[in-house]
Order: sequence, then C-alpha cells, then structure tokens
Amino acid sequence: MISGLQLWQWRERAREEAQAAEISPAEVDWFLVTLAGLDRLSLRLGSFRDQDRLELPISLAELTQKWQQRIRDRVPLQYLTGTAPWRHFELAVSPAVLIPRPETEELIEIVAAACEDPQGHWADLGTGSGAIALGLATAFPAATIHAIDRSAEALEIARENARNLGLGDRIRFDCGDWFAPLDSLSGQLSGMVSNPPYIPRNVIPQLQPEVCRHEPHLALDGGEDGLDCIRHLVVTAPTYVRLGGIWAIEMMAGQAEAVTALLRQDGRYEKIQVFPDLAGIDRFVLASISQVAVS
Ligand code: GLN
Repeated sequence: MISGLQLWQWRERAREEAQAAEISPAEVDWFLVTLAGLDRLSLRLGSFRDQDRLELPISLAELTQKWQQRIRDRVPLQYLTGTAPWRHFELAVSPAVLIPRPETEELIEIVAAACEDPQGHWADLGTGSGAIALGLATAFPAATIHAIDRSAEALEIARENARNLGLGDRIRFDCGDWFAPLDSLSGQLSGMVSNPPYIPRNVIPQLQPEVCRHEPHLALDGGEDGLDCIRHLVVTAPTYVRLGGIWAIEMMAGQAEAVTALLRQDGRYEKIQVFPDLAGIDRFVLASISQVAVS
C-alpha cells in the first residue's frame, strides 16, 4: 500500500531518469498504466496525488526494479509490460518475438486492398507474435490462416494471442522453416505474407540497443546483405501459392530495387509493386504469381 504522493514522486523521478537516458518520458505513464493499473486521466490530471492510499497490483520496489531494466539495460518497454499495441489488438510479447512495429500494420491494408480471393488458405511466414496472421484473420473472415515460425517459443506467444482475441479457431500454427510445414497445400495458397528477417548481419550491432541487445536475432538477421530470407521466399512461393495468388513482404529501407529485381529475374511474378510506409520509406513489395512452379 502506498500513498498517491509517493507514487507521484516516483513518477517525477522516473520522468527525470527517462529524460537523462534519452527515453521518452511518456513511457513512464505507459509503464504505470500497464503495470500499476493507473488510468490515463488521473495520470494526466495528477489527481492520484491526493489519494491517501493506492491499491496497486505491483509493489513500488518491483516497479522500480523493472524501470531500472528499462533505463539501465535498455530492455524495451513492451518486454517489461509483456504487451504491445498493434492495429486494434493488444498483443502479448516476450523476448522470443519481435515487437510488432506500427509500419507492419500497413502490410495488412495493402494485402486486403489487392486481394481478389479473400477465402482459401493464407500463410504468414515467420509469424513471431502472430501479428500478421491475426491481421489477416480479421481482414479475411472466411479464410484459413496458417501461422508458421521456426521458433516453438514464438508460436506459443502467437497461439496465446489468437486465443485471447477469440481467433484461435481461424489460425493454424505450425513450427518449421518458411513453407516447409505447408507441403500438403502446394499450389493452393491464396497468398503469402511475411515480415522476414531483413537486416544485413553487420548492421545489427548498429541498431538501437533495445533492438540489438533484446530482440531475437532470429527475427532480424537477413544474412550478409539482408536478403537471404527474401530470396528464399521469391524462389519457393510459386510452388505453394496458386496462379494469381499474392506474394507480399516487408523489407528494409533501400531494398526495394533489389527485391523487385529478384522477382523480375525469377520470371514467375507479375504486377510487382512497391509501397511506402507512413514515413514515406519504400517498405513493402506486393506481387502476384503469374506462373506456378513445374515439378
Ligand atoms: N523492422 C525491424 C527493425 O526495425 C526489423 C524487422 C525485420 O527484420 N523483419 O528493427
């Protein structure tokens, strides 16, 4: 049990620490809302300060310990609170999954706008927290979604998210590499969507400490030039996706030319299009299968 004044003082101090560490002080309030159960309004008005007693689900000592991990160890806030907002979802996250980024939300809109076949089977390859699979499940209410990941730990999180959102029966989860678990659906997928690892290996150490020290490298590392996984998806998709089906990925700034060249050179793709994210950076490539693989 603590007083409103104590919490107010804790918050003032945490805001100063945030500023000194070049972390947005707004994170302190998100922290308090998510972990201490405070409501945004009383935080904004500061009205909690006048309360004699606050019943918090976490002790001040625990709160301080977690906040130190944020400031000192640069653990992303989302891993400390265990949740990340994405589209209209509140997703569970752990260090086993990449924290879903706001720009990836756009990928769902692009696919939904381009899609001529909202039924059938859709795959989210490298699903991580399940964000894209969940986005597809809501965008295409009549489709079956396949969420694939190499990491069994990540799939557990994705499953938990689907269950929590009542979408558990719409998504099938399989552990494996890219299309491998979908062999029985060869030539039948309506579309493949992926946010694959695409960061060049030697760039990873230069990313923010939150990313390079805490997010799973399995979800970031795209090999020497960052394009290893994307190349694999270009080569393999025509075996699994049906004629006219969709191929859609997220990529890094500066990769658009290389990715569209890979698709053109492969010769089995048409309607190759690049889309910017909300910051205006070329971020997504959409194409459709014009010729299926002959085996
Ligand atoms: N967008 C992530 C980042 O900025 C990388 C995600 C990925 O490699 N797919 O770090």
